[in-house]
Amino acid sequence: MGLLEHRRGLVFGVANDRSIACYVAKSLAAEGATCGFPYLPGEKNERRVRRALNDAGFADPWMLPCDATKDDDLDATFAATKERFDTIDFAVHSIAYADRAYLKPGKFTETPRDVFAQALDISAYSLVAMANRAKELMPKGGSIIAMTYFGSQKAIPGYNVMGVSKAALEASARYLALELGDHGIRVNTVSAGPLRTLSSMAVGGIDEIFEWVAGKSPLHRNIETEEVGKTAVYLLSDLSSGVTGENLFVDAGYNIVGL
Ligand code: NAD
Repeated sequence: MGLLEHRRGLVFGVANDRSIACYVAKSLAAEGATCGFPYLPGEKNERRVRRALNDAGFADPWMLPCDATKDDDLDATFAATKERFDTIDFAVHSIAYADRAYLKPGKFTETPRDVFAQALDISAYSLVAMANRAKELMPKGGSIIAMTYFGSQKAIPGYNVMGVSKAALEASARYLALELGDHGIRVNTVSAGPLRTLSSMAVGGIDEIFEWVAGKSPLHRNIETEEVGKTAVYLLSDLSSGVTGENLFVDAGYNIVGL
């Protein structure tokens, strides 16, 4: 018996075979979970997401086009999910976006209003919008996780407006945890160390971050994406039944080091 046998839910954020969401989905499926995959609409993206999921072992993945900035898309996604699954047990938020022109060391002060608002909307508000709809499909409780990064807590050169967005995401998760606890729904964030994905490649100076983490973290290495997948299994299963509102670092211990 897998830890997530008979559990169903949505995994937002697969873009390609490197996406954290892809590894998370693989780990969840290995424990018996059934997943639906909302993805950013677009023909090219659809093909890429399908290929990544096929390669990850999902022969015929259930995919739903959903731009997280659009309430209508989110409504349609959760309506289709209700129709297919009736109720769900988990939701994974693994989406973020900021204009890469402002993800460079020295560029934060120049962040325009629309770039700031868009980053916050896609990367943080979307969790609130998602949780509000997910709770209707979780009558017996559930577990929601969102992916974050240490740049929420410390100023990391180049992470800029994404760091501000991650701070909002983590605070949103705490407020959601407080309110949704009444419904038996847990909400946690996973703070992953740097990984080579489409999104992280947009951050200026990322190679230096990889080197620094490998040199200074207690485990003397960067993490593997599978390690985020394993943590997702913990947070979405009964193993973590007493845990909510937490921010769990999967970063080879880097965050505890002060030099
Ligand atoms: P990724 O590029 O594979 O995933 C980002 C996803 O966000 C993509 O699937 C993209 O389609 C989706 N997205 C962007 N705008 C969207 C919108 N409007 N509507 C719906 N989806 C949208 O990169 P990733 O590294 O797997 O990122 C996943 C999450 O993990 C992000 O929240 C990211 O900030 C976080 N994270 C990444 C790292 C890292 O080093 N890669 C570290 C810590 C946290």
